[in-house]
Amino acid sequence: MSASPVATPPAHDVANADGPIVIVGSGLAGYTLLKEIRKRDAAVPVTLVTADDGSFYSKPNLSNALAAGKAPAALVGAAMEKMATEQRATILPHTRVTAIDTARRQLVTERGELAYGRLILALGADPFSHGLDGDAAEAVLTVNDLADYAVFRDAIAGKRSVVVLGGGLIGCEFANDLAQAGYRVDVVHLGDWPLERLLPAEAGQRLADGLATLGVRWHFGRSGRSVTRHASGFTVTLDNGGTLATDVVLSAIGLRPRTALAAAAGIATGRGIQVDSLLQTSAPQVYALGDCAEVDGVNLPYVQPLMVQARALAATLTGTPTPVVYPAMPVMVKTPVHPVAVLPPKPGSTGGWQVACGEQGVCALHVDAGGRLQGFALTGAETAQRTRLVAELAT
Ligand SMILES: Cc1cc2nc3c(=O)[nH]c(=O)nc-3n(C[C@H](O)[C@H](O)[C@H](O)COP(=O)(O)OP(=O)(O)OC[C@H]3O[C@@H](n4cnc5c(N)ncnc54)[C@H](O)[C@@H]3O)c2cc1C
Repeated sequence: MSASPVATPPAHDVANADGPIVIVGSGLAGYTLLKEIRKRDAAVPVTLVTADDGSFYSKPNLSNALAAGKAPAALVGAAMEKMATEQRATILPHTRVTAIDTARRQLVTERGELAYGRLILALGADPFSHGLDGDAAEAVLTVNDLADYAVFRDAIAGKRSVVVLGGGLIGCEFANDLAQAGYRVDVVHLGDWPLERLLPAEAGQRLADGLATLGVRWHFGRSGRSVTRHASGFTVTLDNGGTLATDVVLSAIGLRPRTALAAAAGIATGRGIQVDSLLQTSAPQVYALGDCAEVDGVNLPYVQPLMVQARALAATLTGTPTPVVYPAMPVMVKTPVHPVAVLPPKPGSTGGWQVACGEQGVCALHVDAGGRLQGFALTGAETAQRTRLVAELAT
């Protein structure tokens, strides 16, 4: 079906008093949910509405595609039309939802209204605004979807240097990828070591050292103040007055769950769209999952949690109410020069890090007063211990 105005509910609504399941978002959360629904129910009408072109792709590939020489098109797993056919769904691409009327169970989109029986918000997250001054502030790039990646690829073509703002997971992955692909990379990071909220200092430092072997230059304890244009590129001025000349500036300072649409509809939001363990929002028949969701107070913007959420929600939507129960889910940082596997302790955990530094990497275990493992951070060759430690956490 094309993205034509959808003012009249589709015919199947007549037979289906509940109306269709409508998913908003074609990221991994939206599409994984659609696939999980289809595994359980071949017939239930599903419409997926998305602001982008509806291509199915794996977002984590965006930060390790350069060194692999992958153009944006090579990252597309399936075009929208193929997804619609394979998953027997109506997909409306380039259709931004602008409002939700929870009383009438209607979505307002840029192309008309759309009725829903059950609505699932899989809206993702927006990059934080970098807040930099200067005449080139609007030229600072972010890479949060495939279209951004295409713009970024064009921007760095034929160029030599990139300043990356932010040394978190995404900043480190881009630093590795860019340096591996031959770019000169400076990373400006407010913390004293990369991923300081996830890793103890020794593990973070080892990651920084690994990236430095590729030529990455670190600027710890610093933030960007302004970006100005010069003859052949940009000058980034730091908060201490230092300057970095560069061809391209990439901001990777974090993401904020997209909550505005839900909040405007009176749906409870906090850090994310607030849902219970059944992924139900405060509005009847409205659910949320993925990066936009705060599940029982916790927002986990990673792939594995959204897969668990999608499986549980598909069961719930097809008649078997199923709460989300997470297994131990380590996050893998894709920095091949010195990989990292981290499973942070649960919020509020007591105890502390026990850190062992070897030649090939760091093994940091977070243990409580009783010596029980609560989490871990592994770097380099020590990441091989991940499976054993996950099993230990599960017992
Ligand atoms: C560069 C990068 C690397 C990453 N690497 C890893 C990794 O290695 N491992 C890991 O676990 N996680 C990683 N992540 C995080 C992971 O990719 C995300 O958790 C996941 O992709 C989020 O999927 P999502 O579907 O929730 O959101 P998104 O993929 O952002 O999808 C949101 C969708 O909602 C649509 N949308 C938003 N608002 C509207 C609207 N108003 N109307 C209509 N449509 C709308 C968008 O168009 C989009 O289709 C990475 C993230 C990035 C950016």
